[in-house]
Amino acid sequence: MNEPIGDDDYKLDAWLCFPPQIALRYEEDHAVERIAHLRLTILIALLLYNCYNLVDAILLPDLGLVPAVLRTLVLTPFGLFIYWMTGRIGAAWRERALLAGCAGALALTIVLFHISASPMSLHAFGEFSLAIVFANMMAVLRFPHAVIFTSVAFAAASGALYLRSDVSLGLQSALLLQLATACLFSLYGNYLFQSRRRQDYLNTMSAERRAERAEREGLNLRDMARTDALTGLPNRRALDDIFTDWFASGDPVTVMMIDLDHFKEFNDSLGHQAGDECLKQIGTVLKAAASGDSMFAARYGGEEFAVALRHVQRSEAFRFVEGLIRAIGSLSIHHPHGIGGVVTVSVGLAFKNGGSDTSADHVLNYADQALYWAKREGRNRYKVAEDRGVEQDLVAKGRPRRCQLAS
Ligand code: GH3
Ligand code: MG
Ligand code: MG
Repeated sequence: MNEPIGDDDYKLDAWLCFPPQIALRYEEDHAVERIAHLRLTILIALLLYNCYNLVDAILLPDLGLVPAVLRTLVLTPFGLFIYWMTGRIGAAWRERALLAGCAGALALTIVLFHISASPMSLHAFGEFSLAIVFANMMAVLRFPHAVIFTSVAFAAASGALYLRSDVSLGLQSALLLQLATACLFSLYGNYLFQSRRRQDYLNTMSAERRAERAEREGLNLRDMARTDALTGLPNRRALDDIFTDWFASGDPVTVMMIDLDHFKEFNDSLGHQAGDECLKQIGTVLKAAASGDSMFAARYGGEEFAVALRHVQRSEAFRFVEGLIRAIGSLSIHHPHGIGGVVTVSVGLAFKNGGSDTSADHVLNYADQALYWAKREGRNRYKVAEDRGVEQDLVAKGRPRRCQLAS
């Protein structure tokens, strides 16, 4: 997997090189295309290179079969070896091998030019330009390689020309100017091609990074919009989303509305900050109790919380709520006017049976009515509303009792 890359790294240096991690990525992304391009280019180059056996026969007659033997039996197998290696070695060695291939082909041409005594051989000087243009524009040597290759090729060709006694200084200058022009044009073309391509790659990468960041920020904002800042619990909006899923699924769902008892008096006696602290502690208990994919606790608003359970038997739901009431009581948060001097909660329960199409609003409404029933009955307890409109009254530690809910 690719490593994350900082924005500051998105720059090419003067030699068109990427920072190492991006270079690696670039090579990975372009390997298939580059290998295919090189293989085709090598085959075309070898074909044309061997056609120059005919040219040599005309321009370098004094060398007999030597050029043909060297081109066909030395350079061509070397070229085919590079063709074979391109897909089997890493990018760095592949490019070095290509440089070696170009250098070998040009070196042979220069040597033949140098050793031929034929006056016609001067016309072979044009082949140097062709070889340089091929390396820079067709094979697209990596820019640093192209610079090295072009410089050395120019120096070697100039040397070979300088050593020829049969060429006047004027003609040498003219030929060298032509060669220099080919060198500069092709080097510039190589630079333009590769810098555009690499810059485009960096731009695309930057754009992808910006899009990823925007998506992450969007997700963070979405999370923030769905989280209660005080308790860190999901808020009512998140609860609505969960209910949309759960109620559409046809699964049985238990909904609990939980309300702190006498919380106004708590605030009035101990202050709002203490109230906030208390809400946080209750939130922590709920978060711990309702962990897992089939449980969900949310701050419904103010000092009211909601817990939803999916796929649980009613007996399990009763055990869950009893445990919850006990856990909150055993936090023993001091409440001067609370039941037993501590913070307690009242809970209303309502169910959606599996397969029933009862809406979330309907079940919440029942849970709410059950909650107020629990309040009226003395608080610190829970009551159960059946979605048929009948509720059971189960005092936290007491016996079950049936009663009717106003619908
Ligand atoms: P009951 O037992 O009937 O529920 O009585 P109660 O006092 O809890 O109910 P009431 O609705 O009269 O008061 C709720 C209080 O909850 C009033 C409000 O100050 C407090 N409250 C609501 N949200 C927050 C909050 O975010 N922080 C604090 N500290 N208090 C809050
Ligand atoms: Mg309330
Ligand atoms: Mg309350």
